[in-house]
Parts: sequence; C-alpha cells; structure tokens
Amino acid sequence: CGIVGYVGPAAPSERPLDVALEGLRRLEYRGYDSAGVALVTPDGRLETAKKAGKLANLVEELDSHPLDPATAAIGHTRWATHGGPTDVNAHPHVAGRLAVIHNGIVENFAQLKADLLADGVEFASETDTEVVAHLVARAYDRTGDLTEALTEVARTLHGTFTLLAVHADRPDAVVGARHDSPLVVGLGDGENFLGSDVAAFIAHTRDALELGQDQVVTITPGSVDVTDFDGKPVQARRYTVDWDA
Ligand code: GLU
Repeated sequence: CGIVGYVGPAAPSERPLDVALEGLRRLEYRGYDSAGVALVTPDGRLETAKKAGKLANLVEELDSHPLDPATAAIGHTRWATHGGPTDVNAHPHVAGRLAVIHNGIVENFAQLKADLLADGVEFASETDTEVVAHLVARAYDRTGDLTEALTEVARTLHGTFTLLAVHADRPDAVVGARHDSPLVVGLGDGENFLGSDVAAFIAHTRDALELGQDQVVTITPGSVDVTDFDGKPVQARRYTVDWDA
C-alpha cells in the first residue's frame, strides 16, 4: 500500500532505517494492516523486520531486535489482498539474498507459483508478492544484474504493481518498477529516494522525477537511471513538489 526506498553514503548509518520509518509514517494516512523494512549493509548482508498491525508494532520489534547500520533501505505498509494480515505475509518477501516489496496485485501469481513449486522452490507466505521475490532472485543469479533481473520479471507479470527490490550484493542500489501503480523518485545530495507518493520523502527533498507507465528505475547514492521494460533508457520529467508537508 505504501512504499519507501532509500540509498545513501557508503558509510553505514541509521539514516536508511530512519528515512524508511519516517516515510512509512507519512504514508499511514493511506491505511494498512502490516509494515516491514529491509536493509542492506555495506558488507553485504540483508536484514529485515516485519510485523502485522500498526507501525508501532514494527518499531517495538526494531527496539527489541535492532538492525545493523546500513546504506540502503526499503519500507512497506501492506493492505492485504492475497493472504491474511500476518507477520509472515507482511512485506518484504525474501528469496535468498534478495528482498522485494510490492503494492498492487500479481494476477497471474497462481501459475507462476505452480511453476516455481514444481521447480522445488519453497514458499514462506500466502501472498501473490512472494513469487516476484523468487523470480527476481533467480533472474539475478542468472544475469548478475539486479536491474536486468527486475526488468525481465516485470515483463512477465500481469496485474498492477509498484515493486522495489534490494540485494545483499548491492548495498549501493535500490531498483523499482511500476505498471498501473505509482512510483516517484526523490533526488537528494549524495542520496536518493523512491516513494509510492511524494509524502514518502517530502521530509528530505522536494526535487522529484515522475516515472511513466512500464518503467524501471535504479537509484544509487549518485545516480538515477530510468528505462522502459525493454531496458531502453528514457528521460523522466523533473519537477519540484510544491505542497506543504
Ligand atoms: N498483493 C500484495 C499482498 O497482498 C500487496 C498488497 C498491497 O498493495 O499492500 O501482499
């Protein structure tokens, strides 16, 4: 339901988690039933926490089981469509060293899941989203390129989605894709942001890029690259967010 992404300086800090939680707070107005975050540390570890219920439950969990300082983060508030509002069904969904968050519905998840199950993949949750995590992880293992992996998988999905992915191999990147569901880029100085709407990063920057339909974006601390689902570079429209936070 609500999506935040952040990537910043190579020195690990609390900022990625702080930005993710602040963004989720500002997206609370949209309503949700669960919340979660995934962080990537510069030494290549993926850390996640997720909880059903209010954001306060996630914060409590993070207080009792703190995550390590990081360089990249994704955060999600969920409005369940497939699978009840439980801790396990909350996002992020993890496959190996990769984590994915998702707004929307993957209409063809049953077929994709059947294929993965037949291939011996084990599922932890009842969500439509988890198929995306396994598919992107497998595409990454084959291509070694997170952007290419997400692009390839985005082409095979039916339904509506905003997807963000992080991989433990890429402490310097967050990759996003959208189809019939919004995704906005926030431009920072030595850091960059993603959000399902500008509220996700308005506390940090008003410089934004609007993504078009069927586009993929890769943010690093110093770059923002946008392509279409064929991997062809596209120019995104830059604008200034002018409403009051
Ligand atoms: N369809 C996904 C789920 O049920 C995502 C729902 C959302 O947009 O929050 O987990």
